[in-house]
Amino acid sequence: MQQDPDVIARTAEELVGDLNPQQGEAVQYQGPALLIGAGAGSGKTRVLTRRIAWILSQFGAWPSQILAITFTNKAAAEMRERLATLIGPVAQRMWVSTFHSACVRILRRDGQSIGLKSGFSIYDSADSERLIKIIATEFNLDVKRYTPRSILGKISDLKNNLTGWQEYLAAHAPDFTPGQRGYQFGHAGDLEAIHAVLYAEYEHRLGLANAVDFDDLIGRTVELLRKDPQVADYYHHRFRYILVDEYQDTNHAQYVLVRELAGVDARESADATPGGNGRFAGKTGPAWITVVGDSDQSIYAFRGADIRNIQDFEQDFPNAKTIMLEQNYRSTQTILDAANAVITNNEGRKPKKLWTAMGKGEPIVGYAADNAQQEAAWVAGEIARLHAEEGIAYSDMAIMYRANAQSRSLEEALINGGEPYQLVGGTKFYERREVKDALAYLQALVNPDDDVNLRRILNVPKRGLGDRAEGILLNYAREHGASFFYALMHVDEIQDMPTRTANQLRAFRDLMASLSQFTRAHDAKPSEVVAEVLDKSGLRADLEKSVDPQDASRLENLSQLQSTAAEFEQKTPDATLAGFLETTALVADSDQLPDEGEDSGKVTLMTLHTAKGLEYPVVFLTGMEQGTFPHSRAMEDISELSEERRLAYVGITRAKRRLYVTRAAVRSQWGQASDMMPSQFLDEIPDELVDWKRREAGVERMRGAWGRDEFDDDFGGWDDDFSSGTTFGGSGSSYGSSYGSGSRYGSSYGSGSSSYGSGSRYGGSSRSGSGSYGGSSYGSGSSGRSYGSGSGSRSYGSSGSRYGSGSGSSYGSGRSGSGSSHGGTRGGKVTTRRVAPKSGGSSAQPVSSLDKDNQLNIADFSIGDKVTHDKFGLGTVVDLQDKGRNSVITVDFGSAGTKRLMLRVAPIEKL
Ligand code: ATP
Ligand code: MG
Repeated sequence: MQQDPDVIARTAEELVGDLNPQQGEAVQYQGPALLIGAGAGSGKTRVLTRRIAWILSQFGAWPSQILAITFTNKAAAEMRERLATLIGPVAQRMWVSTFHSACVRILRRDGQSIGLKSGFSIYDSADSERLIKIIATEFNLDVKRYTPRSILGKISDLKNNLTGWQEYLAAHAPDFTPGQRGYQFGHAGDLEAIHAVLYAEYEHRLGLANAVDFDDLIGRTVELLRKDPQVADYYHHRFRYILVDEYQDTNHAQYVLVRELAGVDARESADATPGGNGRFAGKTGPAWITVVGDSDQSIYAFRGADIRNIQDFEQDFPNAKTIMLEQNYRSTQTILDAANAVITNNEGRKPKKLWTAMGKGEPIVGYAADNAQQEAAWVAGEIARLHAEEGIAYSDMAIMYRANAQSRSLEEALINGGEPYQLVGGTKFYERREVKDALAYLQALVNPDDDVNLRRILNVPKRGLGDRAEGILLNYAREHGASFFYALMHVDEIQDMPTRTANQLRAFRDLMASLSQFTRAHDAKPSEVVAEVLDKSGLRADLEKSVDPQDASRLENLSQLQSTAAEFEQKTPDATLAGFLETTALVADSDQLPDEGEDSGKVTLMTLHTAKGLEYPVVFLTGMEQGTFPHSRAMEDISELSEERRLAYVGITRAKRRLYVTRAAVRSQWGQASDMMPSQFLDEIPDELVDWKRREAGVERMRGAWGRDEFDDDFGGWDDDFSSGTTFGGSGSSYGSSYGSGSRYGSSYGSGSSSYGSGSRYGGSSRSGSGSYGGSSYGSGSSGRSYGSGSGSRSYGSSGSRYGSGSGSSYGSGRSGSGSSHGGTRGGKVTTRRVAPKSGGSSAQPVSSLDKDNQLNIADFSIGDKVTHDKFGLGTVVDLQDKGRNSVITVDFGSAGTKRLMLRVAPIEKL
């Protein structure tokens, strides 16, 4: 095999010289199936990257022969980056991607043979839920009882296990045929039948819409490889080396995909001999597979991850070899000991040896707060201290939590402390309503069969096309076995429509037809298509004329979308609108993280799930309480609890030098303050590893002391509760004085940010046990520092991440601090900056709904008149109240009920 001229040749020494013997062996291993199974931080990802470089420069493979799979786009970009430094720019065009991205590429190229036309839509969960809701409503199912989300969850499980709808339907509702109307369920409540019918119909509709959902990307690729031997052959010959990181989180479908891509079960493999000079994966026979993972870090069971994939690797792949890595290069011994101690509590795992040469390091620091606010304030204070006193960069610190909702109080505390941070996760940019609306236009233009997206925008912005108009088009589409788009384009052929509806539908048809034409002419310029859509659809004008401050930030999001498209266009040689839409469909939380080596200058906040594979010098694990972490669902379920424990293991092992564990004694859940017990995972960490800055929350102490009637007894009572009464506080001889380090905190926080300063309160109040930890003291300092100023804070801002650059007025900037500044940090509420309406005349005036007027006059109506309403359909006028501009008309809409409507704003028409 010839060497690719673009690949920098690397000597063996360069590639394995700085690795330990097991790592080196794994990099160089020759054989069809290799599992690198090892604990956290042992260099698995590093070895995988080196192995790719090794395969290229030592095995002489072509870059196109390698398929490397990572868990996130972010990890893929990072791996490509590292590869580029090892082997040169060729890395940029290699297939290093997530399962989903690789499958999109395969389906775009070869999906025709399973009926996918190019330009197919990729539905995210919101789109899918919408489709399920449409279907369920048609079947007269109660969507409150059978929620679209739960139905989709079931469908997703089935897909992850590669159970096809045909099979499931045959088993549970064999009398149903997809596309069939008016189907009656045998007996209500037969959940399996409902799932079977909805699954079948959902697939049918996806097919009609030329769309796939996320799970389909994998499942349909498997289907393609199984059904089309030519395609399978092509990929078998193409990919000679397949490497998968984080293999413990693959689901069954992904497992099968790897097998199919590698051709493990292909007939040709039976008698294949390695080609080339016999030492490497040759032109025939299955591809060589390398998988890397740690069964103790499997944390995606809820998405179908199957830990058995890694446990059974040796049985699944013939002649498999396992190499264990035992040295951890990431963390101190203290951190590793804690992680090991926690994970040993899981049953049925193979014990692992994991050691580090880093030395013992600092003790883990623990803190028990009274409530979530205080916990957050303490964390923010400690971060300020580490930054000010020890010079630790903000970007070297991360705060992790179990659920996104926990970020709120942490964000507030950081804002009050004037500490820059970035939040990863939460409502994603592409999930925001206005962004999704704009994308729905684009999607419908690229893929006219996409009914779900076209129906979404029929009345967005509002143009008087309600359920009724939608129903008319739908009927026509059904009658003609055609798409919604087709029906729209043939609106002139539809008879018996109220004139108003007909006019409005025609206007919408003209809009879509002209946008469609524009799209075809400007396909290579997605940003121009975005601009045209925003402009002609009225989406932009609608927000511009709004007086709602949130709409200003929505407007900025749309501007950001256009910038993102422009950016995509610049960096993608063969940019197309479909290509751009793909990038928007496959974004994950982790993609919002700054690039490696880039100093964001900000503390990172994220969930434990997002933290997988990452590392930080300082990590705060917050919310270590029963019911928070482990999650309440896991408390009675052994396998869920094991999964939570693996998540704890992941969290602990993200820390390189310092680990903090914190908890709150009281946390609000569903609007109610609940007492929280310490997490059992805290108990599982050996006591001697933890330096408790505050072991028991004030409220707990009070409870305990009262109970024992020794409230003010110098803590003798509660000391006994803990075997190591002397360890907490470390230096202090008594509780009081060790927190009395309040003075230490107090002064240092004071200098870092004016808002803290509550440090001194701990000292004093811990002694008396009085309730002086009132939330009011936190953050009351009102630092006056402006959140986000210069820092852009959320990652869509100036951080230069994918949504970042492009528009100077970027999202997240410009918010000046104020007492209530935290309100501006979340979701679409980031900025209150008003954007001046674009020039262009009358529409720039703010219009509230009450200013509207449809020019209908109450005098023109009489009882008994027939009217049509956009939403409720045909009705009969039953009452009239003449109140001038505020006249009210009451209409009986039959099954839709009797409605009182303000005439001037009612979308009705007299027949
Ligand atoms: P995780 O289980 O979290 O995915 P991992 O096993 O993939 O971890 P890596 O992220 O590859 O581990 O490595 C952990 C850290 O140790 C990284 O900073 C890496 O650069 C470093 N490292 C790994 N091997 C070596 C080595 N031989 N010499 C020096 N540093 C190393
Ligand atoms: Mg890794």
